[in-house]
This record gives sequence, C-alpha cells and structure tokens, in this order.
Amino acid sequence: MEIKKLISKIKARKKELGKKLVILTHHYQRKDIVALGDFCGDSFALSARAANDKNAEYIVFCGVHFMAESAAILAKSHQIVQIPDTDAGCWMADMADSVLLEKAWTELTSIVKEEKIIPLVYMNSDAHIKAHCGRKNGIICTSSNAPKAFEWAFERGEKIFFFPDEHLGRNTGNTLGISQNEMVVWDPAKPFGGNSQESLEKAKVVLWKGYCLVHTRFTTNQIKNMRKNHPDAKIVVHPECTEDVVALSDAVGSTSFIVNYVNNAEKGSTIIIGTEINLVERLGIEHRDKIILPLKQSLCPNMFKINLENLLYTLNNIGKVNTIHVKDTIKRDAKIALDRMLTL
Ligand code: SF4
Repeated sequence: MEIKKLISKIKARKKELGKKLVILTHHYQRKDIVALGDFCGDSFALSARAANDKNAEYIVFCGVHFMAESAAILAKSHQIVQIPDTDAGCWMADMADSVLLEKAWTELTSIVKEEKIIPLVYMNSDAHIKAHCGRKNGIICTSSNAPKAFEWAFERGEKIFFFPDEHLGRNTGNTLGISQNEMVVWDPAKPFGGNSQESLEKAKVVLWKGYCLVHTRFTTNQIKNMRKNHPDAKIVVHPECTEDVVALSDAVGSTSFIVNYVNNAEKGSTIIIGTEINLVERLGIEHRDKIILPLKQSLCPNMFKINLENLLYTLNNIGKVNTIHVKDTIKRDAKIALDRMLTL
C-alpha cells in the first residue's frame, strides 16, 4: 500500500478509537511514525506518560520491547499495551539476562555484604532484571536521571552495581567525580567479572560490560574531523557514547536533553549530534534555521522495525495482537524499582 494511503488509514483508525487509544513514540522512531503519535519522548518521559494515563484502554508503544514492557508494568489493570513489532528488541538489553545477573550477584555478595550493594539498572533491560533490582532495594534509571539515581543509591549503600551499560555508568560516575580506580568493569563471561577480591572491595561502582552498538560507533576521530571542517559548531552526544567521545564534546545528555539543546541554540548555529540518525534527521527538518549534522549516520535497526504497515495492523487488531504480558510477580517487583525512579 502506498504511504499516503497507509497514513490516511491510520488516521481514520485513530479517529474511530478516540480517547480509548494512545500512541507513544520514542525519539528514535521514523518521522512518519512520530507524526502519527500522541506523544513523543525519551524512555523516562514515555514511562511517566504511561504511568499517568488513566483514560486510554490501549497503549500502542512505538519503540523497542523493553520500553513497551515498562509501560505494561506501569499500566493500570484495564489497559492493554501493544508493540507493532514484537521483534523490536535492544542489543544492549540482551547483554544482561537474569541467569548471568543471578550468578554475578551471588559472586559479588560472597565478597561484599549484600546490604552494602545497591543494584542500579538502566531502563534498557528486560523485566526480570528490573524485578531483581526491585527485590534487592535497587532503583531504575534512564539517561535523563542517572546522576540523581546514583545519589539516591549512595544515600542507601556503599557500592553501586550498575547494569547493563558500562558507558552510561562510567560517564555518570565521571560527572559525580568518582575516580577511575573506584570504578571496575564486570565481565559476565569471567569468574567474579574478571576482578580481584581487593578491587571489588575497593570499588564504589561496579559496571556491567554492556554497550549500545548505535552509540559506540561514534569515535574521537569523527569529532576531530568535524571540528576541522566546522570550527564554530557545537558537538552534543548521548551518554551511551564512550567516555573519550564525551570528553571531546561540548555537551552530553539524554535524547530529551539533545532536543532541548537544539531548541535553545541560536539561529544560524551549527550543531553536530552523536545519537541515533532518525532523531538527528528529524531535528534537522524541524530547525531549518540551524545547521544540524550527524556526527556519523548511526541507525538502530530495532527502532526501525516499527513502520506504517505494522502500526496499521496493530490498530486494526487493537487489544488482540502483539500484546505485552509480564508475569504478576515480575511486574510487582519491577514496579517497585520503577516507582522509585518516578519519584526521583
Ligand atoms: S539505540 Fe542502542 S540502546 Fe537504544 S534501543 Fe537501539 S540498541 Fe538499544
């Protein structure tokens, strides 16, 4: 079906469903999908929106699986959450599963008393990991509130076990002035994460060895080349980038931070952005009075799986297909950690 026809069918279906339906779209979605959504945001804003929306019966989540799962955890009992493509996963989230985490937790707590460790899990993780965090007095964070979540954790324990993104954890530690030798990396493929007993005892932050392939494609050489070609430009990157990339940039922050950074920039300015290409291109279209360039074209193929065809299919089968289910016990424990985040 041609694009115009698909769009008009989606609009008609939205009209039919009225207030029963809310379509949430992540910043990394294609621009056609964002244009059809009711609300666009980063994972924090979207989960807050899902938690506060009492009217909608159907929440259609245009993003990746862990985001839709978080919406389902926060949804009211009368709400059904659907994702247009259930195969839209996240590489980073898949780098920490509950078996690896349980093993790591057992090993780490054989060295450091459990009550001293606060698990802090990035939103980009599956529900079992979030549930573990809830059960063990931990908290969830997004890239918008990671520093606040670190402070929350240090008020309650001596050591943070952060997973699954090493880089967000390290960049947050750097922002808070935690020294390099107080942060160790936990490699789940090795016993005790590849660390000595002494280094684990000394560490303030233990960082799971996970990463986002979209954001680790950005390099310091790309920044140096861009600076040569655009000496007046400002460079802003996402905190899932490596710390050397962050160090050479002018600003670092979540997708919402990047959107605000561009909104607040002066007319005529040049901004080079290190994050997913769909957001960068959309910002370029929305800000014709500024020059918006990608640090490099870096696309998240999982976000890209959501398209007009599968959105229309979902709306035509509302409440019936691609629904997200989370086991009650997992939902209960994960919600504890998510609710803690929402109060930050
Ligand atoms: S951009 Fe990275 S972290 Fe975000 S969904 Fe894609 S793979 Fe996962």
